[in-house]
Amino acid sequence: MMEQTREQLYNQLLCQTGAILEELRALGVDELYLPLRQRPERAETLEDIRAELGDCQRCALGRGRNKLVFGAGNPAARLVFVGEGPGREEDQCGEPFVGEAGRLLERILFAMGLSRADVYICNVVKCRPPQNRNPREEEIAACEPFLLRQLAVIKPQVIVALGRFAAQTLLNDQTPISRLRGRWHSYQGTDLMPTFHPAYLLRNPGGKREVWQDMQQVMQRLGAD
Ligand code: SF4
Repeated sequence: MMEQTREQLYNQLLCQTGAILEELRALGVDELYLPLRQRPERAETLEDIRAELGDCQRCALGRGRNKLVFGAGNPAARLVFVGEGPGREEDQCGEPFVGEAGRLLERILFAMGLSRADVYICNVVKCRPPQNRNPREEEIAACEPFLLRQLAVIKPQVIVALGRFAAQTLLNDQTPISRLRGRWHSYQGTDLMPTFHPAYLLRNPGGKREVWQDMQQVMQRLGAD
């Protein structure tokens, strides 16, 4: 059989396409849609995580809270502070570290040449434990994956764990905060510095000196990169 030339093949294809289009027109189709290419997967954002949490009831803390405290600050912060969980005032307004402890944290940030807008502030659990008790294991297990996802979005260079509970939980280490602080640790591959909680400093102002030493180490590490 004689081989078809490229032109013949082209004409044949045109004829077939024309016939198909005629048939479609006869059926009343007057528009054709091209299949959309699959979009590349979009990177997760903090808004996505917040939306997924919704009116979260994944653990018992959801029942008693007033407002879920997701976290606040710069979504591309190089420095993230993680506390234990919302207190009474945070639960009322939905913002982390408000009230007297929050104001002290702001003064610490100011001394570091930073403001709240430069850093990101959040907690191990996002809902207030009743009577400010420590969050329970199952509550941490339900909430911590969201903290991890927040950190994966923000990609900070340094995390500061504020207080005994946050430090021991994130590091899975029951060593007293007085021995954990002042030394570098790692949380999921990110440098972590534990230090005293601002609420502790309000009761024990003598600890401010050690916190300042810890923050100097943090500034050095941030400045070194
Ligand atoms: S503490 Fe976390 S897991 Fe528990 S209800 Fe609140 S947001 Fe959900």
